[in-house]
Amino acid sequence: MSKDHDVPKKRFPLTLDQLTGRSERKRASAAPRLNSLQTATRNAAWHASETSSTPPIASASAATGPSAPVSPKPVSRPVAETRAVNSPLVSDAVRRAMVQRLSQQGIADPKVLAAMEAVPRHLFVEPGLASQAYIDASLPIGYHQTISQPYIVARMIEVMRDGIDGQMSRVLEIGTGCGYQAAVLSQLADQVYSIERIRPLHEQARNNLRALLIPNLRLHYGDGMLGFPQIAPFDGIILAAAGLEVPQALLDQMAVGGRLVAPVGAKNQVLRLIRRLKRNEWTTETLERCHFVPLRPGTFG
Ligand code: SAH
Repeated sequence: MSKDHDVPKKRFPLTLDQLTGRSERKRASAAPRLNSLQTATRNAAWHASETSSTPPIASASAATGPSAPVSPKPVSRPVAETRAVNSPLVSDAVRRAMVQRLSQQGIADPKVLAAMEAVPRHLFVEPGLASQAYIDASLPIGYHQTISQPYIVARMIEVMRDGIDGQMSRVLEIGTGCGYQAAVLSQLADQVYSIERIRPLHEQARNNLRALLIPNLRLHYGDGMLGFPQIAPFDGIILAAAGLEVPQALLDQMAVGGRLVAPVGAKNQVLRLIRRLKRNEWTTETLERCHFVPLRPGTFG
């Protein structure tokens, strides 16, 4: 990674140094050799695959009903506990090594790299997996779901941002999971909303995020296929689960000029970038191959 990328703007009330014990771990400068389950080579191959553009999306069949009338609660709450994981495998040096690898894999947006460096990913996996938190792999988070691999998190956000210099204003994530990507997004947008359909995961994300006290992130339990019409329009939408198509409700909730990034497909999935050009005009672009858990309707738990 370039040494000169921006220093992350720490907007959490607690500094991440405080959370991660960075100052104490300065000694751990040599990052351990990391084994990657999904290697950089494979990602690079995916990244290099076909790109195509097609004009406006045909109207997709999708649920467009109102989302549950539950107002989302802000994540900011007093620190209850900070998971203490005292291992060089979760040091800031390891996180920097992860960011360096992301840069080598082609992530170029300095703000995305800074956000990836700022968020302690090991706090979003169970303690037994913390030592694997910075390898480039998805990891289980329970309920047959996963925390996405760092590369794809960074890639989707970079694609959504499209090189803009500043912050995005309002972003929606479908599929909170453990809350990691939502935390990264919170570094890059004024307001982030994230929806999860599995209640225990929604609660888990809330617990994971509590210590970070992120004031601009709101979690919502519900069916993300319906979007969040009370809050729309969004200038960015990211789906962290793959449907056979992007739900029409989400297309409708994009701001004009907004961008949506989503994995699409069943077994063979591709990443799609959708732009809303006008009120009734969208374009779609197919990016690299990817692999996500399925987007499912309704709620669970
Ligand atoms: N954003 C996560 C990845 C979570 S995995 C990260 O930071 O790594 C994808 C998540 O999408 C799962 O937790 C799954 O339950 C959720 N999901 C699937 N369909 C959904 C839907 N219709 N609405 C909301 N969440 C959904």
